[in-house]
Amino acid sequence: MTAISDHLASIRQQLADAQARFQAAQPVTLCAVSKAQPTEAIRAAYAAGQTVFGENYLQEALTKQAQLDDCAIAWHFIGPIQSNKTQLIARHFDWVHSVDRLKIAQRLSDARPPALAPLNICLQVNISEEASKSGASGQELLELALNINQLPRLQLRGLMAIPAPCSDFAQQRDQFRQVRALFEHLNNHGLSLDTLSIGMSGDFAAAIAEGATLVRIGTAIFGARATSSSTDSVTKGP
Ligand SMILES: *Cc1c(COP(=O)(O)O)cnc(C)c1O
Repeated sequence: MTAISDHLASIRQQLADAQARFQAAQPVTLCAVSKAQPTEAIRAAYAAGQTVFGENYLQEALTKQAQLDDCAIAWHFIGPIQSNKTQLIARHFDWVHSVDRLKIAQRLSDARPPALAPLNICLQVNISEEASKSGASGQELLELALNINQLPRLQLRGLMAIPAPCSDFAQQRDQFRQVRALFEHLNNHGLSLDTLSIGMSGDFAAAIAEGATLVRIGTAIFGARATSSSTDSVTKGP
């Protein structure tokens, strides 16, 4: 588990370097993506000062959350959302990054307990327009955002995207630039979004170059994931 604290230190340094190099205007939050990783790995990262974690599979996340009850962790749900999971997601997470339909947002708002702060929401946008991928299209985004912004128990914070994987830095930037353009478009139309959730292990520097305020990094912190998650095998994410 010392590897995890070493990896975290290295990622923090790389994030700082990218922020300096691209003169980032906003601080960048590191969300450690712990899907398919054991509870002990999260504990090791937490001991090394990491407090923001992202999970993709609800049942797996709930199991780990129960085991980490003593830790002050901000939990981000970043996986595909089925409508029958909205009750539990609204109760057990601080953020949801993967909202792409009004119906899901309404259910999350309805289910958010009054005792908790409004649930922070990022809309997932599909810039590569691949039919197989989740995410709202650029055209439907403004109307969706304006509607979700009205929901009482949600706080619409920004956009999330998972561009098609590519290893070329300029191409990575091109894709993230499109997300940033949509983000600015929304803010020019009456919204005040502050979160651009872009960048993963293979492309976070390009995301920071394009204004990421939150990066979601798994593999570079925890190492490779096992290919299947035993606790929640029906909902496979990216
Ligand atoms: C798995 C996942 C990540 C982390 O990906 P890595 O390449 O392991 O850093 C980030 N965001 C989402 C939505 C994911 O599903």
